[in-house]
Amino acid sequence: MFSKEEIIKILSSNDDSILKTADEIRKQYVGDSIHLRGLIEFSNYCNRTCYYCGLRYENKNNQRYRLSPDEIIESAKLGKKLGLKTIVLQSGEDHYYSTDILCKIIEEIKKLDVAITLSIGEKTYNEYKAYKDAGADRYLLRIETTDKELYKKLHPNMSIDNRLECLHNLKSLGYETGTGCLVGLPEQTIESLADDILFFKEIDADMIGIGPFIPHPNTPLGNSNINLNKNFDLSIKVMALTRILLKDINIPATTAMETLNPNGQIIALQSGANVIMPNITNDECKDKYNIYPHKKNQIISDTINKIHSINRTVSNEKGFRNKTS
Ligand code: SAM
Ligand code: SF4
Repeated sequence: MFSKEEIIKILSSNDDSILKTADEIRKQYVGDSIHLRGLIEFSNYCNRTCYYCGLRYENKNNQRYRLSPDEIIESAKLGKKLGLKTIVLQSGEDHYYSTDILCKIIEEIKKLDVAITLSIGEKTYNEYKAYKDAGADRYLLRIETTDKELYKKLHPNMSIDNRLECLHNLKSLGYETGTGCLVGLPEQTIESLADDILFFKEIDADMIGIGPFIPHPNTPLGNSNINLNKNFDLSIKVMALTRILLKDINIPATTAMETLNPNGQIIALQSGANVIMPNITNDECKDKYNIYPHKKNQIISDTINKIHSINRTVSNEKGFRNKTS
């Protein structure tokens, strides 16, 4: 177990030997096979105004879309046909989909014998419970940053305490719970990234998604003077340290990593990651789900080729966390 000081030292140095250590731990604890999770971005409407995100309500340049329940279920069926064992339903915080509608969608998709992950933001305990009862297995809700001041600045009308309560509710309801952070936000410090990593350990997250921050021009952070290569390298290091601390969890090679570096996912898979989330949203919509510019949407055939190119295999299982301690 690393101390905060040790984590800060590693993140601040040019030594990247921890990437190899993370790769070895990944191999020992979760093996060589990679879980594919089929991502359906079913709505890009959002009631929130997170400063970094292109889906924020105040971005009036975004062409909005919503998939109907039937379209969502059809996309899931396509994913099943393609051999995917998990379907991820992601959207902005869009109140158009009532609890009843979402539960019906979950029940229908569950009939396909796939695991279901939701990533639809902050909801009440009762809403989370209803989705769980309908068949949802996992939930992704990144804390984004554990720096309270920074969190407040970037999330108008939101509270980090509520975000934490959501994560605790999800855990208590028996979801496999995923969280994660953005790396390289303006004013974010190495110290706070170390806190983020220790937070993942403290709440014993089952999945961690690390996203290098990529400025979107139509957001308040659009003009940030950011070194994207640095963000990429730092996010890989944060991910590797997370693997070293939380040995048996699931960690995706994220789309944001692939967006910043043409080899990004392969580097991530060789530095601790064991999951990829190919995008199975229809082409027209996935181009409008522009959280940040030039988002690289991964298609399954490319993903599989990539996996084979580094002598890894595609998992045949739903890929739940196999907790070792
Ligand atoms: N609305 C849900 C939520 O916020 O949890 C799910 C969808 S949201 C688009 C998914 C993730 O996108 C967020 O957790 C955030 O970390 C990431 N994201 C948003 N804007 C980003 C940006 N500019 N660069 C990198 N990642 C970004
Ligand atoms: Fe909405 Fe999620 Fe984007 Fe925030 S990060 S604006 S909640 S889609």
